[in-house]
Amino acid sequence: MALEQFNKAADLINLEDDIRQILSVPQREVHVALPVKMDNGKVKVFVGYRVQHNNARGPFKGGIRYHPNVSIDEVKALAMWMTWKTAVVDIPLGGAKGGIAVDPKALSQGELERLTRRYAYAISKFIGPYEDVPAPDVYTGPQHMAWIMDTYSALTGHLEPSVITGKPVETYGSLGRNDSTSRGVAITVAEAARRLNLKTNQLTVAIQGFGNVGSNAALIMAKEYGMKIVAVSDSKGGIYVKSGINVDKALEVKEKTGSVVNYEGAQKISNEELLTLDVDVLIPAALEQVITDRNAGSIKAKIISEGANGPTTPEADRILYEKGTLVVPDILANSGGVTVSYFEWVQNLERRQWTLEEVNAELDKKIRKAFNDVYDTSKQLKVDMRTAALTLAVKRVSDAIRIRGIWP
Ligand code: NAD
Repeated sequence: MALEQFNKAADLINLEDDIRQILSVPQREVHVALPVKMDNGKVKVFVGYRVQHNNARGPFKGGIRYHPNVSIDEVKALAMWMTWKTAVVDIPLGGAKGGIAVDPKALSQGELERLTRRYAYAISKFIGPYEDVPAPDVYTGPQHMAWIMDTYSALTGHLEPSVITGKPVETYGSLGRNDSTSRGVAITVAEAARRLNLKTNQLTVAIQGFGNVGSNAALIMAKEYGMKIVAVSDSKGGIYVKSGINVDKALEVKEKTGSVVNYEGAQKISNEELLTLDVDVLIPAALEQVITDRNAGSIKAKIISEGANGPTTPEADRILYEKGTLVVPDILANSGGVTVSYFEWVQNLERRQWTLEEVNAELDKKIRKAFNDVYDTSKQLKVDMRTAALTLAVKRVSDAIRIRGIWP
């Protein structure tokens, strides 16, 4: 799929075969065997990967995933996808991804720490502040990043925070990273509204998924942009309040009872019904492939901003484009996270912590610019926003390769 998408974008800009060949394969694939002493005294060997797709625009960048299904092919595709993501939002970094095939829920905290440190040791020759800067992904978080920073620092003999991002704020993490993905989503919606001549503070919004991305997006959109959140949902179902949901209250209900469905005075709706509500903005922020050829025709939102990765199928994309729905693709809509990761790296390199206001102001600038670059490209090429984003990214990376040349 990743290759197919790349070739489609490459065709649109008539990319020469030389560069097409270069970008079709990762620059480096690292496979590592990780012996770990388990709590029962026995050794278990896990398999890990780090795939570095392209660094023409800057050091490799991408998360580390712990999941039983991690495979080299998945990591290769995700690494290529990171190259496009950093290029779309125009940060001076490349694309990479890493992972360990493991069920992290089956390990104790001690086993997890030993596994993480062994992985950091095994890939330590290939990462570094100017080589490759990993970050969290599925089932990894600030603590894992701190262990990797510590292991790498021990190996190099000095503290090196800029080797990895997504660290705890107490140890060189950035302020504002927690809700950075959601903030990016909100900014793309505000910018889309501006281009469509809609008033931001008159928009009604439905959000599928009330986890990290969905709930923070709801808070930011309601409190900072004055949008009216009329529907939210989680895995147990959804709620609809025509006059608007009090997001703080919904969060409280979710925390106390485990689901937003217990919000008082709301109409209960299904996750499927939420998608086709009569709203201005729809934010899928839960699962993949929820907008399909079965429901795309009934979607009434004028703007869809993809907080989740891959919520829209290619068939649905075609239907939505034909009826004029503006879909902000995941690669752009949820790039706030990697953008603040980049800010964390910059702060670490300059050994200075930015204020929350500085982080948010820089994020705003970056995402606004990226949105408008993609929007203008989509108008110029007469293609949907997803194709435009990918095409723009492929062009930026190709230009860098061409201008730098091949050596030796
Ligand atoms: P999360 O686990 O915090 O939240 C997921 C939410 O989806 C929960 O509210 C859960 O109840 C809900 N959900 C689960 N199954 C559902 C179903 N069948 N129907 C409706 N809702 C359901 O996860 P998150 O970090 O908010 O991530 C959400 C999406 O955003 C994922 O696709 C993730 O890859 C993507 N994403 C997240 C980040 C980030 O910074 N967290 C960055 C980029 C992309």
